[in-house]
Amino acid sequence: MRVLITGGAGFLGSHLSDRLLAEGHTVIAMDNLITGNTDNIAHLAGHERFTFIKHDVTNYIFIDGPVDAILHFASPASPIDYLELPIQTLKVGALGTHKALGLAKDKGARFLLASTSEVYGDPQVHPQAETYYGHVNPIGPRGVYDEAKRFAEAMTMAYHTYHGVDTRIVRIFNTYGPRMRLRDGRVVPNFITQAIKGEPLTVYGDGMQTRSFQYVSDLVEGVYRLLLSNEVEPVNIGNPGEFTIKEFAEIVNRLTSNRAGIINKDLRTKDDPQVRQPDISKARRVLNWSPQVSLEEGLRLTIPWFQEQLQRRGEL
Ligand code: UDP
Repeated sequence: MRVLITGGAGFLGSHLSDRLLAEGHTVIAMDNLITGNTDNIAHLAGHERFTFIKHDVTNYIFIDGPVDAILHFASPASPIDYLELPIQTLKVGALGTHKALGLAKDKGARFLLASTSEVYGDPQVHPQAETYYGHVNPIGPRGVYDEAKRFAEAMTMAYHTYHGVDTRIVRIFNTYGPRMRLRDGRVVPNFITQAIKGEPLTVYGDGMQTRSFQYVSDLVEGVYRLLLSNEVEPVNIGNPGEFTIKEFAEIVNRLTSNRAGIINKDLRTKDDPQVRQPDISKARRVLNWSPQVSLEEGLRLTIPWFQEQLQRRGEL
């Protein structure tokens, strides 16, 4: 397949590029580099089946030649990013999805949307199955991301229903691993960086809110299986192992032998979900997929990468 990945220089887009190339496909990675970084794809420079195009997908997308699949992963994805870039976040979810779907229609390509567990908002149903409609505050600080992704899902289904575009929707739960931005403000980069530097981990609020963390290779496997499947309706891909943020901090401190402990900070954003855990029955059933990497194993693969990055920047 000749595959376009929007957000191809981002954390997930770059790992997906690696996987698709390894499977023998041709990859065109597109990114405006607002939150993506060419460092993530530097190792692919010169690869005969890889091309990078710097472009903002909210503007008309032109690709010469055939395209068999489009993975639409372009978007700011961390709460501090979408607080700083609220309009861009809304534009890429709305206008960017429209442009990418228009290209899929034109090329007869299969289209896969990167959606999110944030479509469930601060959930009142736990764990979250795909049948749950969610509990989102449209005008809260997270609304720009949540509603953009909800709109993107609606647009994707409309192109499927009215234009016959072959579409897929993945709802991605918290994912971590090498190539996350060190300063994207999310809990995994924050805690690992703080722990490596021997600083106390900043737990927002009382730390009793929960998240379920999946290692990036599990996400990539789930997305690849979904792309090759016939499932049009959304599928959750996440690791159901659920931890409080306080427990998560303790695990990171243990794995890094950090003795600085934790400090509580009053920095929770409004509408920060109190709980989050994927119900993955559907992914098990239709994709025969389940996560293979435990939190501890995944962190052991991620911590050395952060260490190397910090050393390279002279921060250690
Ligand atoms: N969080 C924290 N300390 C940090 C960063 C985040 O306690 O330094 C908390 C945050 O309030 C949230 C959870 O960790 O409850 C996960 O936040 P993240 O930004 O990683 O992503 P989210 O799942 O909220 O989109």
